[in-house]
Amino acid sequence: ENLRIGFVGLGHMGGPMAANLAKSGYEVVGFDLAPAALEQARRDGITIADSANDAAAGADVVVTMLPSGKHVLDLYAGGLLAAATPGTLFIDSSTIDVADARAAHDLAVAAGHRSVDAPVSGGVVGATAGTLAFMVGGSDEDFESARPLLDVMGRKVVHCGGPGVGQAAKICNNMILGVSMIAISEAFVLGEKLGLSNQALFDVASNASGQCWALSTNCPVPGPVPTSPANNDYQPGFAAALMDKDLGLAANALRSNGVPGELGLRAAEIYSRFHQETGGGLDFSAIVTDIRNRANE
Ligand code: NAD
Repeated sequence: ENLRIGFVGLGHMGGPMAANLAKSGYEVVGFDLAPAALEQARRDGITIADSANDAAAGADVVVTMLPSGKHVLDLYAGGLLAAATPGTLFIDSSTIDVADARAAHDLAVAAGHRSVDAPVSGGVVGATAGTLAFMVGGSDEDFESARPLLDVMGRKVVHCGGPGVGQAAKICNNMILGVSMIAISEAFVLGEKLGLSNQALFDVASNASGQCWALSTNCPVPGPVPTSPANNDYQPGFAAALMDKDLGLAANALRSNGVPGELGLRAAEIYSRFHQETGGGLDFSAIVTDIRNRANE
């Protein structure tokens, strides 16, 4: 199809996502504030606009991949929506607060546009390979319009519900992941203290009721799962800084919706501290080293 796509935010994720759209034949007009991102995008076949608003002007679809809800709302209110032809489909793939996603949707609709929230999991590896998982919130009709593009950038696309519900799915899933990684890590360190080897605990728990992704795929101790980041000095993977961010969004949603999520709130505190103390660049499974260090204090 000869759709023109405006793409704003060509960073670690947005850059390769936009490149995949261009590679598959879409006309992609992109913008980012960082000159290095623009240079790479140009090499990837993306036409560079002079501003975000220029990227949206004349586009059929506008995709945003930005750091936070504030960035999305500031751009939407700051002229991006006004620059687009009425009826344009806005796809925000940033991970943002559910309330911000709903506010962004309302702004888009008030400006005569259509919109879905479509956050992703799969990281830079998935963005590059075009194998991201998309969690989408919006109407059936808008979801169907977005789907062909999401299929280019991803492998799994799930329509989760109405506006903001894609973001809800993302933070609920990552809250499960953060809490379960801490639980698995505490169990390994306790096992070490009790004379239980990492391998033996893995052999038991991965075949029993303790089984989960944090154990059987992203195992936080080196050895049992050779492909887990623990075997590679905890190079991400999924950086602790991003887990901190996502748990912060989950904690915010727990509080504002009156849900007594004691473990989710505690996990947010634990990853916030770990992020501050380490810089957040390691894979989130490195939390096991923090627990071990504290055990030896
Ligand atoms: P990034 O910082 O690499 O990219 C964001 C880009 O947005 C930057 O290049 C920045 O210059 C640009 N930007 C900021 N304000 C702008 C503006 N006003 N106009 C134009 N460009 C602007 O971040 P990322 O890793 O690509 O992540 C993007 C989003 O995806 C975040 O919400 C993140 O939480 C989410 N996410 C990231 C990963 C990951 O593994 N990196 C995985 C899943 C989801």
